[in-house]
Amino acid sequence: MKMEKEYFLSGKINEECGVFGVFNVEAASQLTYYGLHSLQHRGQEGAGIASANKDMIIRHRGEGLVTEVFTEKKLKTLLGEISIGHVRYSTTGGGGIDNVQPILIRSHKGDFVIAHNGNIVNAEKLKIELESMGSVFQCTSDSEIIGHLIQREEGSFEEKIIKALPKLEGAFSFLIMTTEAIYAIRDKNGLRPLSMAKIGEGYGFSSETSAFEIVGGEFLRGLKPGEMVIVTKEGIKSKNYTLATQNKMCAMEYIYFSRPDSVINSLNVHNSRRMAGKILAREYQVEADIVIGVPDSSLSAAMGYSDFSGLPYEMGLIKNRYVGRTFIKPSQQQRERGVKMKLSAMESVVKGKRVVLIDDSIVRGTTSKLIVKLLKEAGAKEVHMRIASPPIISPCFYGVDTSTYNELISTRLNEKELAKYIEADSVAFLTESNLEEALGENICKACFTEKYPTEIFGLLDKIKKEGKNE
Ligand code: SF4
Repeated sequence: MKMEKEYFLSGKINEECGVFGVFNVEAASQLTYYGLHSLQHRGQEGAGIASANKDMIIRHRGEGLVTEVFTEKKLKTLLGEISIGHVRYSTTGGGGIDNVQPILIRSHKGDFVIAHNGNIVNAEKLKIELESMGSVFQCTSDSEIIGHLIQREEGSFEEKIIKALPKLEGAFSFLIMTTEAIYAIRDKNGLRPLSMAKIGEGYGFSSETSAFEIVGGEFLRGLKPGEMVIVTKEGIKSKNYTLATQNKMCAMEYIYFSRPDSVINSLNVHNSRRMAGKILAREYQVEADIVIGVPDSSLSAAMGYSDFSGLPYEMGLIKNRYVGRTFIKPSQQQRERGVKMKLSAMESVVKGKRVVLIDDSIVRGTTSKLIVKLLKEAGAKEVHMRIASPPIISPCFYGVDTSTYNELISTRLNEKELAKYIEADSVAFLTESNLEEALGENICKACFTEKYPTEIFGLLDKIKKEGKNE
């Protein structure tokens, strides 16, 4: 599985799950299916949908893409007007069907399901405590912890959740569903996005606002850090489970993960990338003929670079959209050719040209090296790489796979050395303050700065000692 992932994503950062849910809508599971389909870029390893019909929760989940896991027949069995779903890319706990969400918690007081985007940084500690008190875990994912914490509390279901949440540290956007309600929750640091919409007479929740468009929803607002929105037949209400909040939205949501048509904290993703590209052009000009972007996440920044520099924006790289999943395991040599299968250089565009190549980030440098090679083989005279984010020097503990720590190329090489390694004519990154200029100050930048917005319970020291983060 790991090999396959590296091959197809070719050394890029991997997204970490998406959640979607609807309340009080007809054929709720079908709407959830469409919502998840539009969040597919956030996780391709597993998908699941649960629906509530009268006093019963029905769930179906499987490994693979949303279209592979669900058939029309299967969706028709997920009856009811309440539904939540999840697309998964595995980090904590690894892959396997047991870790595909929503996670079902059985309780004599009523079953409930959980869909989680993010990562709990004190999961190990909590799990040991819970197991010593008799909790039995069904899977190795950290998301099940919240279920056990809720079950151990006293009071109404709502009170139990509110008592359990402050025990969690890290990043989480949760959708919790019972047969009567959906509880939508965002962590107190605001690290992962979660938004709500009106859908007819009902409501919808999603990791990204772009999913609302597809189901005919009207975007209402993003949830605030530390907020829990509860929707029942009686209506909708909001509560803060803590007032000790900060707004540290993951910068990578803007830079790479989210769809360009999504809005996060009132900022459109495409516009934020375009602004980053303009800043790159302002700070790192170079004599060139054209500017191109690596599809798809770097195209907006390439447009911004073109806006500011006046260089023509060209389509120099084409993505082969149908390089999908395969059951044939690639060899090392084939993996190295991964980019070639996924991207093609347009010889008619780049031949004889001095090219400014915009990419959103550099992780291991292997992808960049292959793209530069592709362009040079297609006849590009010079390739100047401009990166619409700062160098990644530290791992993420909040549910994003930024590769193994000792593989992060910017921990070892400066811009000049990196240019030599990837065989580009020059390389330049945005600085930390450039990034804030584009995205505002309310962001997490820990993978660029090693300054984490939460306690991380010795995880960084452990990784540095072991040289790996998995
Ligand atoms: S460390 Fe990086 S990837 Fe992780 S939440 Fe912060 S900005 Fe996002």
